[in-house]
Amino acid sequence: MNIHEYQAKALLKSYGAPVADGVAIFSADEAAAAAKQLPGPLYVVKSQIHAGGRGKGKFKELGPDAKGGVRLAKSVEDVVANSKEMLGHTLVTKQTGPAGKQVNRLYIEDGADIDRELYLSILVDRSVGQVAFVVSTEGGMDIETVAHDTPEKIITVAIDPSTGVTADNSAAISDALKLEGAAREDGAKLFPILYKAFVEKDMALLEVNPLIVMTNGRLRVLDAKVSFDGNALFRHEDIRALRDTSEEDEKEIQAHEYDLAYVALDGNIGCMVNGAGLAMATMDIIKLYGAEPANFLDVGGGASKEKVTAAFKIITADPAVQGILVNIFGGIMKCDVIAEGVLAAVKEVGLKVPLVVRLEGTNVELGKKIINESGLNVISADDLDDAAQKIVKAVKG
Ligand code: GDP
Ligand code: MG
Repeated sequence: MNIHEYQAKALLKSYGAPVADGVAIFSADEAAAAAKQLPGPLYVVKSQIHAGGRGKGKFKELGPDAKGGVRLAKSVEDVVANSKEMLGHTLVTKQTGPAGKQVNRLYIEDGADIDRELYLSILVDRSVGQVAFVVSTEGGMDIETVAHDTPEKIITVAIDPSTGVTADNSAAISDALKLEGAAREDGAKLFPILYKAFVEKDMALLEVNPLIVMTNGRLRVLDAKVSFDGNALFRHEDIRALRDTSEEDEKEIQAHEYDLAYVALDGNIGCMVNGAGLAMATMDIIKLYGAEPANFLDVGGGASKEKVTAAFKIITADPAVQGILVNIFGGIMKCDVIAEGVLAAVKEVGLKVPLVVRLEGTNVELGKKIINESGLNVISADDLDDAAQKIVKAVKG
């Protein structure tokens, strides 16, 4: 689960991290009052969407010459004018995809005078099985280019879970970031704070880009992006309360309600599969035959008829889906139950695109019989290979 920048900053501030003062607003009417609470004379007006790259982003409605999704303002009037221009409009960034995201919240922040922009993130480094800091002196809006062209400028410092961030770890991070004087002292305080927040709140990613050295020599968290491990959310009521479902994919929210593992993708073949491994294999084989999956969907090992129906509805509601592949291995799950679920769903929501069903395992003969005798336009397949070829052919015509 992701949260907004202003929420992430409030959380980090509660742990003692240095962040600027700021006020979140939902309408332009609130802009003047928000700015007046800040010292000025420099303000920053920041679009709050669950995507990065806002500074270099473009508003769809405003034309190519308009400023991006993060703007400096030099007076209260300037804050108001920019807020009016940004709120309600669609921001397209490298991370939003071409559709962009509507800006419904702004964060009005006290502006900083920047000396250097650094990069810092914390993540679970699976190669060493530890939480690690990933840092670079080349922070700011071009970090993707740095990662691509000069990866040696990105340095990883893994943290031993039994000790947490040691003085040696802090020194290594500070060296990598070339921190000196007051900034180095700030770093020695900040790194353990960020690590503590990461671990205690079960974060999957904490990205501070940029972490800045201000002209007064002090450190500040200027941007903050946090993702939480969905499997640990049950024990963080405070984090769950920060959820903004308007930023999430409608289909993913529905799937979550039915306890289906669903991830929306860009292709046009909808997939309904049981088991994460089989779901991955199904996506791979669709690609092998030259098409793209519209989603990853694992209905789980013991899916009921209701779950199968819900899954089918979610897939068919996606306008990009031009064909559906149902690929089920009946182990715990019985093929006849799946077949009945598919038929019930088809009867309820209709079937406007080709449907290929591949069943294997427990009660497979009964399952196939139910499908074949249904009178519905369902293409039956014998194995995974056959199924993938049939659906790709059906979609490509
Ligand atoms: P992102 O583009 O979505 O990553 O948004 P950021 O919060 O990282 O802001 C983008 C850029 O705006 C930063 O890299 C800075 O260069 C600039 N910026 C943001 N806040 C301030 C500020 O307080 N003062 C100054 N001078 N620049 C800022
Ligand atoms: Mg940033």
